[in-house]
Amino acid sequence: MYGIKMQIAEKLAILADAAKYDASCASSGSKRKNMGGMGNTEGMGICHSYTPDGRCISLLKILLTNHCLYDCTYCVNRVSSDVKRAQFTVEEVVNLTLQFYQRNYIEGLFLSSGVMGSADATMERMVSVARTLREKHLFGGYIHLKAVAGASKELCRAAGLWADRVSANIELPRSEDLVKLAPAKSHAETELTMSILKEGIDEAKAEAQSKNPSKFRKSFAPAGQSTQLIVGATEASDRHILGKAVSLYDTYRLRRVYYTAYSPIPHADLSLPPERPPLMREHRLYQADWLVRYYGFQVQELATETNPNLDLSRDPKLCWALQNRALFPVDINVAPRENLLRIPGLGVRTVERILKARRFRKLTMQDLSRMGASLKKAKYFIQVREDNPFLKYVDSFGLEAQLKPEPVQLSLFETGLSAQTGEV
Ligand code: SF4
Repeated sequence: MYGIKMQIAEKLAILADAAKYDASCASSGSKRKNMGGMGNTEGMGICHSYTPDGRCISLLKILLTNHCLYDCTYCVNRVSSDVKRAQFTVEEVVNLTLQFYQRNYIEGLFLSSGVMGSADATMERMVSVARTLREKHLFGGYIHLKAVAGASKELCRAAGLWADRVSANIELPRSEDLVKLAPAKSHAETELTMSILKEGIDEAKAEAQSKNPSKFRKSFAPAGQSTQLIVGATEASDRHILGKAVSLYDTYRLRRVYYTAYSPIPHADLSLPPERPPLMREHRLYQADWLVRYYGFQVQELATETNPNLDLSRDPKLCWALQNRALFPVDINVAPRENLLRIPGLGVRTVERILKARRFRKLTMQDLSRMGASLKKAKYFIQVREDNPFLKYVDSFGLEAQLKPEPVQLSLFETGLSAQTGEV
């Protein structure tokens, strides 16, 4: 096969398809097919991502190659997998990026790769793509490079100089699962790569904030680093997954952890589940992640020792409130910020609005509705200026039934719930 010169379009089809399993740039999940008209949500290699300032941008999302030395059982590109292989040259990726950019299809590049030759050889070629784009073509678009765990410090540092974001995937939350399913990988090696990237990010920040920043200073991964955790490939509970995510946030100050439901692959190892876990599990993990990072919750409060997996039928904050009813009602007009954040139906922005407004007057249910609170949930847990008739339910067995989620019409398509965040 390698004697025949593979056309770029064919390579693009293979290497864009192979890249779709990495969700650490949060692409959409629609499966609508083109029926002979215009448009196709399965277009090759274009995904959407968010920049640090909140803009949604399109990225060319591809692998440099889907050849790989390793045999991670959950991966379609593993060495023992019987898939069609392809490999781009550095120039081909550079040219594709420039052509897509000039045609306004994309605003940046997400580049990952199987490990070919060695970690260093692979990383060197990825860095070379980014450097060529920046230095030779003065490309100013967004670049997200996947860091190959085990690559040298020099190459990881070089990646951060040319890319906006760099990410090393931790993959499985428990070391023992990695030993079983991806023996060539280890948390220690991936975390070493993360620590090298953190060092570069910290140094660049310190330099930028110093009194006399050098005129020639270079930025280093200004959009920070992220990682991906696969959900449902092993027995690891949500408590394990969130625990690992929080330890990575704390230790390496990651900008984002992406949770990706395991996708069954052809001829998979028998130790892997035959079905994909419900997408709702990803969604609940994103909600819990948000609660830990912005609402002051601890992982152990949301995924307890006795219930280590999040409830799929209710959001994690509501579940916590139902299990801790003794802490309610909370008086909207006097409670401290940390207690307001624990009320189901109130998001961070609503809480800030409450804190500002209550300096001038006592707030009513109607005020809260105007401030964006979801009263459908909040009304059972709060004291407001007027009498609240819903408070009688807070200690009643009937409350869970009142808060039962409404039945949802199932979609014909498996629409992506992933990467959803927001006020919970
Ligand atoms: S190293 Fe990456 S590409 Fe290679 S088999 Fe493992 S997960 Fe797949």
